[in-house]
Amino acid sequence: MDRTAEYRLAEIRDKVQNNIRLTYDDGLFLDQQVDLLTLGELANIVRERKNGNIAYYNVNEHLNPTNVCVYRCNFCAFRSDLKGPRAYVMSDEQILERAREANDRGCTELHIVGGLHHLKPYEWYLNIIRIIHNAFPRLHLKAYTAVEWDWFARLTGRPTKDILAEFRDAGLGSLPGGGAEIFHPEVRERICEHKANAENWLRIHQEAHELGLRSNATMLYGHIENSHHRLDHLLRLRELQDRTGGFQTFIPLAFHPDNTKLAHLSKPSVLMDLRVMALSRLMLDNFPHIKAYWIMLGIPTAQIALSFGADDIDGTVVHEKIYHDAGSTSPQELTVEEIRRLILEAGRTPVERDTLYHEVIRDHAVSRQWSPGKPLHLEVLTTAN
Ligand code: SF4
Repeated sequence: MDRTAEYRLAEIRDKVQNNIRLTYDDGLFLDQQVDLLTLGELANIVRERKNGNIAYYNVNEHLNPTNVCVYRCNFCAFRSDLKGPRAYVMSDEQILERAREANDRGCTELHIVGGLHHLKPYEWYLNIIRIIHNAFPRLHLKAYTAVEWDWFARLTGRPTKDILAEFRDAGLGSLPGGGAEIFHPEVRERICEHKANAENWLRIHQEAHELGLRSNATMLYGHIENSHHRLDHLLRLRELQDRTGGFQTFIPLAFHPDNTKLAHLSKPSVLMDLRVMALSRLMLDNFPHIKAYWIMLGIPTAQIALSFGADDIDGTVVHEKIYHDAGSTSPQELTVEEIRRLILEAGRTPVERDTLYHEVIRDHAVSRQWSPGKPLHLEVLTTAN
């Protein structure tokens, strides 16, 4: 690094230490000229200022009601044509059974996303939320990405804000952050030209925030995008968060190429995973949390990421399909005991949270007794703050 670059880095370090916002050019410099360990050290300053030594996890399950999808995003290994050999649609009974399993094992959250099934009416998607919420009101339903909300608007001709309000009244708890991919049109039009564009994705999250619903945000990296596209993406999110404050967590998602139309690309390296994690923490100064999603990163990288900006490792995640279809080799499930051990091993303090980041206090002696197929009735399940 020459003298000019050293001076530039010192300026940025000073900004980070004094909690001063970084610019687009600062981000480019960090991404393109600063070594990984320095980037991690800077990100860790922000991470510990916001969340101390805590690493959050939650106890959740995933529910993907169908993989039939009208769109054909190039990076997607999950979707199927209506008559494809892998096509499935869950019945109401199967959906309720999955929700019952989640409830019985003490989950606080059900994460619900899926394909856009062109033969299913709007009411089918609404009914999923209604029947689960009526049967298991304790489960927080984090459901449907902005791409799905945009699809519901196309199905009905109604404004997305009205639709979000109707789902909220039926039991919707919050929105996941999927479907953001890369906002920049140079990339978006090449990897997912049909689905909701950046403006619609951001508008739908703004509307959710205005209705009192919290949401997450993601970025799919490591395919055909570059530093400029990633920074553009992060700053668009930061700008919306300045206006609404409704985002909770940012989740950088590593691209998995297997079984996709981009299978000729390599998957991102661990070094890139950690760089993107750190850069996200540094640029998104108004996001409370950054998540190292272990399903995509793998467990060892997720553990290291807890020192590169991340303060959340996601959940126990049972029945994950989307990234396993794309070649993820991480386990299908981690137990609470395993998650807590992995966090402790990384030198952080494990704290169970619910979807809205309230601390969950439970009787771990009871949790330990649970095994698949056996209902878990929690003796203590309360949320602090
Ligand atoms: S990423 Fe989502 S919208 Fe795109 S093809 Fe896959 S399931 Fe469909």
